[in-house]
Amino acid sequence: MAIATVNPATGQTLRTFEPYSEAAVEQRLARAEQTFAQYRLTDFGRRAQLMHRAAELLDADQETIARLMTTEMGKPLTAARAEAAKCAKAMRWYADRAPALLADEHPSAEDVADAGASRALVRYRPLGVVLAVMPWNFPLWQVVRFAAPALMAGNVGLLKHASNVPQTALYLEDLFRGAGFPDGCFQTLLIESSRVEAVLRDRRVAAATLTGSEGAGRSVASVAGDEVKKTVLELGGSDPFVVLPSADVAAAARTAVTARVQNNGQSCIAAKRFIVHQQVYGEFLEAFTARMRALRVGDPLREETEVGPLATAQGREELAELVADALALGATVECEAEVPEGLGAGWYHPPTVLSGITPQMRIHHEEAFGPVATLYRAEDLDHAVALANDTPFGLSSNVWTTDPEEQDRFIRDVQAGGVFFNGMTASHPALPFGGVRRSGYGRELSGHGIREFCNVTTVWIS
Ligand code: NAP
Repeated sequence: MAIATVNPATGQTLRTFEPYSEAAVEQRLARAEQTFAQYRLTDFGRRAQLMHRAAELLDADQETIARLMTTEMGKPLTAARAEAAKCAKAMRWYADRAPALLADEHPSAEDVADAGASRALVRYRPLGVVLAVMPWNFPLWQVVRFAAPALMAGNVGLLKHASNVPQTALYLEDLFRGAGFPDGCFQTLLIESSRVEAVLRDRRVAAATLTGSEGAGRSVASVAGDEVKKTVLELGGSDPFVVLPSADVAAAARTAVTARVQNNGQSCIAAKRFIVHQQVYGEFLEAFTARMRALRVGDPLREETEVGPLATAQGREELAELVADALALGATVECEAEVPEGLGAGWYHPPTVLSGITPQMRIHHEEAFGPVATLYRAEDLDHAVALANDTPFGLSSNVWTTDPEEQDRFIRDVQAGGVFFNGMTASHPALPFGGVRRSGYGRELSGHGIREFCNVTTVWIS
């Protein structure tokens, strides 16, 4: 894949970039190592000052970076602005909380004595140079939610961003440098994915985090395994959205639409499979399809647009193939929103609701990365739980019920990294984010996220 900005709303190539030479990559690796040697000695106060400055700069740049993201990957401009604001908030959150999240831990006097020590404690120390391989779908947020905790912990970052968002990748490097972080604290590598292995194997790289597809995750994890390097993987998802009879069905249907089409349907935590109890199936179907049908598809730079184009031609093709496969095997189209004429050569796909899904269809067990919802009718609670878990993924889940026993049942049985009741899954700095099964492992955000790239050091004093 060429490293280039190609506007998904027009298909036009706006800028192309030469991949960095071997020498340029070597220079950045050396700089990262040198910077870490000094930067790890800075205190939380200094790091927080720099992180707050980065948040201020990002707030000031909000409109420019939002337009750039929309131009590079097609998300509606309003969503791009919100993404930039969310990044600044997370930077401030980690700037303020890192000292407490990484404070020394002191076992009880009894446990210290039991360990035969006069004093014992746990200290969180940075690991070193962390390679971040990131996707285009939230081109700022995916990177910041890695970078803010990693830098606050005293690590330094190397970013290999998706090839279709090179300008956002370069902006991020400028942002951290402009805030005053030493050169080498956060650097972008404009390289193809085939060169990730060599960087990861480099002795100066201590660990890696990857957000992206299962294939990319498998490849990075196997190299890291071979090198015995720590990894965090945030991969795909096919989150269930379960509606049970006690739910406010109208509210569930409204939220279901947002949960499915956010980011033009290209979110790992978008609800993708809608599992509705038979008692409320008809009511939900009517409200859900009415709203999906009415979605305003259009140029993502226009303020009123709710759904823009998919980010790449290949992404649209893959989604269309999933839909065609389901239709060939007997699925029903419950509704399809209109893609207005005259949108040009953009990679638009109509928001669509499919029912009559069977396990033979690819869409039943693959991730639909675009605005296509699959609808299932559940006979009862057990059936709803079974359908929710009938997927290789396990990122998050959404359940609509006001019954505490049903809530407990899902908390106990749903095979996912999160369960959100009477609302939709979203990421928050204070709450851990990550999955199980094919959605990956490890956690981002919260105290769990900042400790992933720390050396949890045991200190024992006789
Ligand atoms: P992708 O093709 O896997 O790309 C993600 C990143 O990995 C890009 O930087 C890509 O570089 C790189 N890459 C691809 N193949 C690689 C390989 N074999 N070795 C090393 N690096 C490789 O994913 P995508 O299509 O851009 O993103 C969509 C996927 O990401 C979806 O499955 C979505 O659910 C998932 N996602 C997950 C989360 C989460 O938090 N769990 C969040 C967002 C997205 P190139 O661009 O140069 O190929």
